[in-house]
Amino acid sequence: MTQEHPADPLCAFAQHDHAHCAGEVLARASAEAERRGLRFTPVRKRALEILLEAHRAMGAYEVLDRLAAEGFGNQPPVAYRALEFLVEAGLAHRVQRLNAFAACMHPGEAHAPVFLICRDCDTVAEAGAAPLRMALDQVAGDLGFSVERASFEALGLCPACRAKAAENTAEAQP
Ligand SMILES: [Zn+2]
Ligand SMILES: [Zn+2]
Ligand SMILES: [Zn+2]
Repeated sequence: MTQEHPADPLCAFAQHDHAHCAGEVLARASAEAERRGLRFTPVRKRALEILLEAHRAMGAYEVLDRLAAEGFGNQPPVAYRALEFLVEAGLAHRVQRLNAFAACMHPGEAHAPVFLICRDCDTVAEAGAAPLRMALDQVAGDLGFSVERASFEALGLCPACRAKAAENTAEAQP
């Protein structure tokens, strides 16, 4: 494990060398797929690369358009199957609120993610939700309920958009 964690949630919201960040995550995802003997076919790998191009979630049709433009076929199942594979393999996540998909920034690590979605610039950051999950298990457990799956998504403003909003408010003042 490297000292500087390119998949640090801060990364999504800060200026950074994203090519390095995406390359690192892709390498980890490939290693994980190989370790588990998954069939990481070219179309599946390409779908992950497309998701990794920016820290945001993409709809299945957006991914399909890209795959089709690159000659992977233009039938919706092409994209759906690739995305489903990625989600099932834990290499991507479904972001329910956006009805879209985001590359997992921690492939191969056991984690409960929380997605922080900027409502202004659509940036999506994946952060650790272990404390949230523990709190949820506690609340559910008190009711005799056992949680099997849970997703955590929050909508708000990222640091850059907050700064922009603050500037605009300051300018609006006389
Ligand atoms: Zn990045
Ligand atoms: Zn993840
Ligand atoms: Zn933003």
